[in-house]
Amino acid sequence: MTDAQALSAAYQTMLSAIEAVEPRIAAATRSELADQRGSLKLIASENYASLPVLATMGTWFSDKYAEGTVGHRFYAGCQNVDTVESVAAEHARELFGAEYAYVQPHSGIDANLTAFWAILAHHVETPALQEFDAKNVSELSESDWQTLRARFGNQRLMGMSLDAGGHLTHGFRPNISGKMFHQQSYGTDPETQLLDYDAVLAQAREFKPLILVAGYSAYPRRVNFAKMREIADEVGAVLMVDMAHFAGLVAGKVFTGDEDPIPHAHVVTTTTHKSLRGPRGGMVLATGDYAADVDRGCPMVLGGPLSHVMAAKAVALAEARTPEFQTYAQAVVDNAQALAEGLMSRGATLVTGGTDNHIVLLDVTGYGLTGRQAESALLDAGIVTNRNSVPNDPNGAWYTSGVRLGTPALTSRGFTTSDMAEVASMIDGVLRAATPTLTKDGKPGKAKYDLSADVADDTRSGAARLLDAHPLYPGLEL
Ligand code: PLP
Repeated sequence: MTDAQALSAAYQTMLSAIEAVEPRIAAATRSELADQRGSLKLIASENYASLPVLATMGTWFSDKYAEGTVGHRFYAGCQNVDTVESVAAEHARELFGAEYAYVQPHSGIDANLTAFWAILAHHVETPALQEFDAKNVSELSESDWQTLRARFGNQRLMGMSLDAGGHLTHGFRPNISGKMFHQQSYGTDPETQLLDYDAVLAQAREFKPLILVAGYSAYPRRVNFAKMREIADEVGAVLMVDMAHFAGLVAGKVFTGDEDPIPHAHVVTTTTHKSLRGPRGGMVLATGDYAADVDRGCPMVLGGPLSHVMAAKAVALAEARTPEFQTYAQAVVDNAQALAEGLMSRGATLVTGGTDNHIVLLDVTGYGLTGRQAESALLDAGIVTNRNSVPNDPNGAWYTSGVRLGTPALTSRGFTTSDMAEVASMIDGVLRAATPTLTKDGKPGKAKYDLSADVADDTRSGAARLLDAHPLYPGLEL
């Protein structure tokens, strides 16, 4: 039996076992693989984790409770979890050159919450906090809590606005970050759509945040973190960088020097499942003086760590330390630039006029569409994207005027720059062919659209040709 046959047999056996208990879940699992194999996945926050990473998540570590930290757990029998957490943290520290790594957060949001609380605990003077550790949290009196709430609640946070490309957790009002902090957002330059560091400095001088957040979900450019740190230092703020989107580009040494957040930020948070290509999860990296506060993640905002996911983080981080991963990270950026050039050469408008990271933000108003119509028309043609606001979006956050495209996933399949030029042509072809459905009063609507079945079918066959040339999990027959 070849390795590929053995692997396929193992997955078949696993799915048969699931099928015997709940056939609908086994069927959905097969169907998800077929969908992922059969579509052009351009969602900037998604990727394809390797089979070793996926396999590591399906083990008995899932069954183990391990609240606490390495060597200091609130449950017995955690020696193997200690190994897992130590190895994951060691890889994270060495890969990113960080003094401290906390690998327990279950997601990016949890990593940000952990970081916020750590920074508050480190900087906000509260008598109650000196008593506030895992052993005696239950002993805090109501007046201790009131002190904490009053002092923590009045702190200021400044992050990038959602429509300039920031994330919900960077102070967006409906998110807890916008409620627990007194917050202000910085935007981008109205003309260039680029970050304007002088404007950020002027705003920070006025607002005097405790926390200056840098990082983004939909900004197609690199950030100069050395400049952000200068701004933070000048106003006495803590610089927190959320590198959830571009952690893979930092790990792969594409973002170095001023573009590498680790030497410049006090605290760096990330997800592990986007460009870093690991399991779904989060991490916090910090300078050593924040270590004890970051370790309060549990019980402050986290419960028991997902030990099986920490194990998969260790495997993914080990993969990210290889020269192959550096080649991958550079290819992610090359592919995004090829996609951007392909679109612009056909007359498309891109936010900031291009990209130098893994994101291309396409403004679809030139095609006469909303982001929602563009996203749905592309999906009909087998191209999976997500609609996204553009700066000062006239269509708001629901319909939007943009479509965000990202290259981490297709690059993991081995797509090259010439493939991306073809993908650009397909996207442009679909969007030119799609037209908004008119409302009763004869005006273009915002949700419905018309796209001929021929265009959708032709695009699907073109996409299938590219996808077949770059199979997902080659050798795995399911
Ligand atoms: N931070 C940024 C910059 C993100 O883009 C995201 C996810 O989209 C998150 C945090 C939240 O990550 P998660 O979905 O794992 O909570």
